[in-house]
Amino acid sequence: MDAPEFGAAEHDAALAAAAGDLTAAALDAADPLARFRDRFLRPAGPHGEAVVAYLDGNSLGRPLAETPAKLGEFVAGPWGERLIRAWDEEWMDEPTSVGDRLGEVVLGAAAGQTIVADSTSVLLYKLLRAALDAQAAAGEGRTEIVLDRDNFPTDRFIVEGIAAERGTRIAWIEADPLTGVRPADVAAVAGPRTAVVLLSHVAYRSGFMADAAAITQVAHDAGALILWDLCHSAASVPVELDAWGADLAVGCTYKYLNGGPGAPAFAYVRSDLQGRLRQPIWGWMGAADPFGMTHAYEPAGDVRRFITGTPPILAMQPLKHMLELVAEAGMDAVRAKSVALTERAIALHDALLAPLGVELASPRDPAERGSHITVNHPRFREVTALLWQRGVIPDFRPPHGLRIGLSPLSTSFAELQAGMEAIRDALGDLA
Ligand SMILES: *Cc1c(COP(=O)(O)O)cnc(C)c1O
Repeated sequence: MDAPEFGAAEHDAALAAAAGDLTAAALDAADPLARFRDRFLRPAGPHGEAVVAYLDGNSLGRPLAETPAKLGEFVAGPWGERLIRAWDEEWMDEPTSVGDRLGEVVLGAAAGQTIVADSTSVLLYKLLRAALDAQAAAGEGRTEIVLDRDNFPTDRFIVEGIAAERGTRIAWIEADPLTGVRPADVAAVAGPRTAVVLLSHVAYRSGFMADAAAITQVAHDAGALILWDLCHSAASVPVELDAWGADLAVGCTYKYLNGGPGAPAFAYVRSDLQGRLRQPIWGWMGAADPFGMTHAYEPAGDVRRFITGTPPILAMQPLKHMLELVAEAGMDAVRAKSVALTERAIALHDALLAPLGVELASPRDPAERGSHITVNHPRFREVTALLWQRGVIPDFRPPHGLRIGLSPLSTSFAELQAGMEAIRDALGDLA
């Protein structure tokens, strides 16, 4: 995998954070992205004042400071004034124009290959079914889906549902969650019966980041298509779908893309595959001529064919604005800050938590790590409840993982420090 490109300042910050001998205040002062923190909403009112450390931006990103006003403008302007004319004027193009911008800023995807629609779960279903059907039509007896046991529940459930519906066989990869799925694990399972391989690029639990280029090659060597789930990758780590040679990808926009609760997902379908792939939910918005009110379904000739119904325009607005913020910061700098934050989190784990019996359940090598870490302790379920009362907000992931998400543009080193100290204190209070 290509090493992420660091600027000199970002590199120094990452190394300093790794050493763990600078104060959080010094790291924040040296952070070239520090100014972006003010671009996020931190309400001082009764709902917000108690938040000491938000360590869950990888589950639900904070709103942008401009989001309330921008949503108000949207309601008053395009919706309130233009009314249905706005569909012709701009909205019909938004699933693909926002998709193109996503491709450009965070996915490494040329235009014409990405749409914004549905949820990740629904897009997983549509693309997996399309891939399976295309492989069946090719007539080589490829009827199997490969995925790993520790993949996110919805990924496993969607595959199991398709297996129940279609009689598809599932070939499970049993990788160690901590070391993640490696090219050799895929090579051991993928073969002449494999239709499609579905993997998460960054694992939701450990934060392990797979070598996507190498694994894509392994899948292709086996004659299979590959579908990357980028939920924990998009806008936090470098993604190069075109350069990887990826076939398909999905991801959500309410995590590091701050699109808000239930913001729509995205799907990528490599351009040369689009004509071969037919999605299973035939809706009018994916048809060649939606307003022709035709009798027969004819799919659009381009990536629009993966759309089904009326696009969720209102829910697409905040993520559009976040994309521009990411573009302004630059993905290289975002990645460098993410590495600095996770290095610092691990240094604080070693200093503050390991002596209390806490174990790191994430890779120590930043090249194999996304933007969150998980730490384990048998009492973390109780600890998380206590932390939430105290305004420190990580995630709990059974059986006993505390997940610390570090959203690069909105999280300070001071916030991380306060959070890690609060975890130590909560463990002490429960002892
Ligand atoms: C968050 C997440 C999802 C979410 O799917 P939804 O359909 O948006 O609920 C799916 N896959 C992974 C790997 C995730 O991290």
